[in-house]
This record gives sequence, structure tokens and C-alpha cells, in this order.
Amino acid sequence: MSGNDSRLQAICDITNREPRPATPPGKLEELWAADVFSLSKMQQSLPKSIFKSLKKTIESGETLDVSIADIVAVAMKDWAIAKGALYYAHVFYPLTNATAEKHDGFISVQGDGSVISEFAGKVLVQGEPDGSSFPNGGIRSTFEARGYTAWDVTSPAYVMETDNGLTLCIPTVFVSWTGEALDKKTPLLRSIAAMNKAATRVLKLFGHQEVAPVNSSCGAEQEYFLVDANFAAHRPDLLLSGRTLFGKPAAKGQQFDDHYFGAIPERVQVFMQEVEERMYRLGIPAKTRHNEVAPGQFELAPFFEAANVASDHQQLTMTILRHTAKKHGFLCLLHEKPFAGINGSGKHVNWSVGNATQGNLLDPGDTPHSNAQFLIFCGAVIRGAHKYGSLLRAVVATASNDHRLGANEAPPAIISVYLGSQLEDIFEQIRQGAITGSKSKGIMNLGVDTLPLFPKDAGDRNRTSPFAFTGNRFEFRAVGSGQSVSGPLVALNTVLADSLDWMANKLEAQLSQGAELTAAIQIVLKEVMDDHGAVVFGGNGYSEEWHKLAAERGLPNLPTTADALPVLEQDNIKDLFAKTGVLSPVELASRFEIYAEQYILSIEVEAKLVISMAKTIIYPTAVRYLSELAHTIAGLKDIGIDLEKATAEKVAALTKSMMETVSSLETALAKHDFASVDEHMQYSGKTIRPLMDKIREYGDALEGEIADDLWPLPTYQEMLFIK
Ligand code: ADP
Ligand code: MG
Repeated sequence: MSGNDSRLQAICDITNREPRPATPPGKLEELWAADVFSLSKMQQSLPKSIFKSLKKTIESGETLDVSIADIVAVAMKDWAIAKGALYYAHVFYPLTNATAEKHDGFISVQGDGSVISEFAGKVLVQGEPDGSSFPNGGIRSTFEARGYTAWDVTSPAYVMETDNGLTLCIPTVFVSWTGEALDKKTPLLRSIAAMNKAATRVLKLFGHQEVAPVNSSCGAEQEYFLVDANFAAHRPDLLLSGRTLFGKPAAKGQQFDDHYFGAIPERVQVFMQEVEERMYRLGIPAKTRHNEVAPGQFELAPFFEAANVASDHQQLTMTILRHTAKKHGFLCLLHEKPFAGINGSGKHVNWSVGNATQGNLLDPGDTPHSNAQFLIFCGAVIRGAHKYGSLLRAVVATASNDHRLGANEAPPAIISVYLGSQLEDIFEQIRQGAITGSKSKGIMNLGVDTLPLFPKDAGDRNRTSPFAFTGNRFEFRAVGSGQSVSGPLVALNTVLADSLDWMANKLEAQLSQGAELTAAIQIVLKEVMDDHGAVVFGGNGYSEEWHKLAAERGLPNLPTTADALPVLEQDNIKDLFAKTGVLSPVELASRFEIYAEQYILSIEVEAKLVISMAKTIIYPTAVRYLSELAHTIAGLKDIGIDLEKATAEKVAALTKSMMETVSSLETALAKHDFASVDEHMQYSGKTIRPLMDKIREYGDALEGEIADDLWPLPTYQEMLFIK
């Protein structure tokens, strides 16, 4: 049997498959939030006073009146049961980037053996999953298994439909029995509260009488790859680690730029439509879809929402993408770098802050130089990104995102802020000490009478910047495609809270000495630019010059997770989180420990896979090919024909080198005596990973030499181009 039978079978299955029929899209008004226990459904089913109380908590952040829980629970249960749900689940977000849920039935057995459905307020408000199997980073000993989930009223409950039935899902926070956060939601809610407090202080200084709660907004663009499941089934690396650990790049990659924004393949569009329909039913506003740069890569972006809801919805979106892909015969890869040699995937986190009374506080308007309030908020972001740049780097640090950041296709690992030419000019004027005006945006004249004239944007886009201002928001482009957006949002909100508090202190001090508000603002902003302007950079972030310049400016360059994560152990970061009330030192330390462990474990799992694939898949194939070559060469020699031996020699040499490196990796993996987690992380990044890369180099070179009909692993060409 030839080695590539499984590949041929996969191709045959894919080309002969019956396409999953596209169901005609339903009406948006009927689909929209059909599976959500939304405000309007609460209004219909709850007594007026109870609805009002709940709405106050949701919209104005007032303390939840727990006494209404019983009545809300019954309404929620009746709605869910009418939809066909028999179970409910507290959904929470442990520190694994995944979503967790524990299902319980509404069933309650009565004394006479009959059953009724029951859902009491106390079960809605609080759950108690056995938390011992979730990462806790030393917060809890294993015998202290108790963990609590608590209802987050501000994120709506919904019914999740899968092939296995329907479940009422209730978004919750997850804490230890001593009240420490063990999840991604708790600090996000705290960071929003801290930012709200500081922003309100500043807005009051601007003389606003009425200031509604300030919240942050997030629109997260999700990039992903689709690979046919028939191929994926024959790639242990894709199945277990989400990326290819071996694979020679195909002759054609993305060099023709012919995939980006190209026509979406029919099969993929049918998949996307089902994803969007499911999102609409869950009240997630899917808005944009297109092909991405690499072959087989796509993007999905929702309309932005309040950060907490957006974060929950982003988790749901990842789940929906994975589930729906399965139904359509795809494996959806959310890994940051599934394929070598072509672009990886990111998750651009668009972030702004605002409220119902003052609107988007990061909207510069037409003449930003005269918009002092905008300049203060934007200046606060600049200060935060400089003062805590290494924190922003740390919150996007994962083993998988390391393949992307700083690899000249995604933003560099140096955090800088791109403002666009108009704002860069204004902040430069501030630094010089006098604001004179805003460069005009100008009108675009295309020179053809029938084409419209349109206003130009105030700044171009800069794809090479990790953190760019894009008109009325910042776009954090360094976030990884498989990551929860919560960590990045927590960092952004928290550093903004810190900067706004600092500014409010400065402004108040000057006002109390009789200074005019405008003059005080100019002084504060000049100080920001003098001390933190170094973070502003409008040039090419990929270039060598920038790396040099950034070093001269004193900006940290933290290329790997092993370099970036220890930032969480620094005193200034501990202080930042402690004084804003977002994370206690214990909570922060536990996060460091968990993320460091995840980094080490991810690399270990991949290294083990590299070893087993090299030994049990690639080595046997190489040996078979060598045996064929040897027989042929010897046989031909017998009849007086001299066949070249170079190929056999090359295959033999590569195979030998690969197996020697496999041995070195096995030895390296056996080391366990590390003085600290930091040292272990450095070892994973600087010793284990290069050995894996070396083995891959030999493996990929063998793929280029060995007869195709013997090669057992689906190739890049097949995985990226056959759909
Ligand atoms: P692009 O790819 O051009 O950056 P997209 O339209 O794909 O833009 O995505 C932009 C994202 O930014 C969307 O999710 C959008 O809703 C979001 N967004 C727009 N305005 C804001 C804002 N003020 N705050 C947060 N997110 C925003
Ligand atoms: Mg974008």
C-alpha cells in the first residue's frame, strides 16, 4: 500500500462530497436575538417594578437587588422551557481562553415520585461548580475545591442550541471560595468600574453636570483558517496543537495577493451564513466577512458592543465557528500561525470609551486641536501605552502568538502608538508648547466628473503598528486570534483609569491654584508628550530602523512570551492593578503562574508531537523510499546502468540529522530542575523551540525529496487549496 492512500482518499471524499445546501437566510427581524432573554422579553414577562430594578442594574450599574431573583428566575425558566430547554448552565470563563459550563436540569423530584421543573432565584444568582480542575495559580490548595459562579446581570442569558439539545445559559463570574477571581470576566467588570470612576472625575472637571456611566466598547475582528476535516484527520499536529508542526510551503502561497477580498468560495460562504444566522439568533451583531490575505484564511467582524458583552459574545463566536465548521466538514483553526510561510491570524481589538451623555470620548471631531476633552482622553491613552507598554505586550503573550508577533507580518513586539498624520501633528504642536490648528482632511478628487468627491480621512492606516488610532477608536492589533479579548480589554481600561486619575489630580491641583481649565489642560498634555511622547510612532514598524530607534527611545522589545510574562511580576504592575482595584497582588501572581505554565506546557506538548511525528511518520517513510532507491540503484548496476546516488545520499543524510536532533530534543525535554518559572520559560523558548524548528527543517526538506506517492501527511498545497 502506498503511503499517500489516505491523502488520495481525502481528496476523493472532498471532491465527491455533497455540498451542504445553503438554507435561504431568514428575516433579520425574526432571527435577531430570538434565543436571548433580552430586555424586551424581560419587560414582557416581569412585573413592572422588578423589570425597572433590573434595568437599573444593567444600564446604570446599580447594585443588584437579590430579592427579585426568584421572580426573574421563574420568568427566565418559563421562557427557556417554552423554547425546549430542559437544562440550564452557569457559563464562565476560566483562565484557559476557553468557555466552561456546568449543566443542571430544571427537574425536581417530589415526595410522591412525580417531577416538576424548578429554578429558584438562589440557583440563578449563585452556582457552585467543583472548581478544583480549573487553573488557579496557587490561590487554592487542591483540598479547597470550592469555587463559586455568580450571575452577571449585565450580560444577557440565552438559550444555546446544539445537536444535543437546548440549554439555558447564564453568563457568570467565577471566583474561589475566598472571593478571589479565577476567571476573565471578574477583572473585566472591575476594570470597567475603575475606568468609569476616573473618566467621570475628568468629565466633571470639564463642567458636565450630567455624566452617564462611562463604559468601554469593543469590536473584535476575528481571523481564522478553514481546512477540510478529511485532511485534518490525517494531521496529528493540526488536531492536537492547532498548527502544522511539519509541512513544506506550497509553490504558491499568498505572493499574488489574489485571495485577500477575493470572491468567497461557495462552500465557505454557506458556512459563513450559518455562522451568522446562529450569531444573530444569539444577539451577536455579525457585520463583516471577507477572505483574508492567506489562502484558506477568512475574517469575521461584528458591530462593536459594550466591552463585557462583546467579550462574552467573542467567546461564543469562537465556539460557533468551531461547531459550525464541523457540520460543514471543516476544521476551523483559531491558532495564530497554523501554516509556516504565509500570514497568521490575529484578533484586532477595536476599543473606545464613551457614555450616553457625552458620546464617544475618543471621537476627535473635525477640528481635534480645539477639542480639549478628546485631547485629554487621547493623551491619557498615549501616557498609558508608554508607561505600561510592557503590560500591553504581556497580555498578548502566548506560545502561539509568539509565532506571529515580530515576524514581519504582524505588529512587532515593541508597543508603539500610531496616531495618523493629523493627530500626530497636533500632539507634536502640544509638545512644542502651542496648539495652532488641525491639518485639514482635504477632499479626494478622482478627476472623473461622474465619480463623487469625498472627504479624505485624517490619517492613513498603518498595518505595521500594534496599537493604532483609527478615526474614533484605538485598534489593538497585536491580540492573538485564539485569545480571549478580556485580558487586553482589562489592560486597556486599567491603564486608562490610571492615566485619567493622574490627569484629574494634576488638573484639580492647578484649578485650585486659580489656573484656567484650558491652560491647565495644555500644561498636562505637554507633560504627557514630554514624558511619554516617545511611544508615538508613525513609520514602518517592521523596519530595522524602527527597532534601533525604539531602543534609543527606551521602548521595551519583548520578543517572546518568556520575556513578556515576567512583566506581571513587576512592582509597578502590581501597584497599578492594586490601586485600581482590578486585581489584588495574589490574583495577579496567580495569573502569572497560570500563563507561564500554559506557555511551558504548550511547547512541551508540541515538542512531544514533533518527536512522535518524526519517529513514526517521517522516518518510516524516508526509510521506505531509501530502500526503494537502494534496490533500484543496485539492480540497475547489475545490468550496467549507473543511476545517480545523490538523492539517496541526501535523503539518508537528512534522515540521519533529523533523528539525531530528535534525540537531542528528547534529552532536552527530560530536564526538570529549574530554579524558577522564569528560567523554565526561557529554556522552553530558547532551547526546546529551536530544536523543534531544526527537526522541522529536516522533515520539510525530506518532503521535498521523497516520492509523493509515499508521503503520508496531507500537504500544504492540499490543505490550503482544496475545498
Ligand atoms: P477594518 O478591517 O477596516 O479595521 P472592520 O470593519 O473589519 O474594519 O472592523 C472594525 C471593527 O471596529 C468593527 O467591529 C467595528 O464595529 C468596530 N468599531 C467601530 N467603531 C468603534 C468604536 N467606536 N469603538 C469600538 N469599536 C468600534
Ligand atoms: Mg481592522
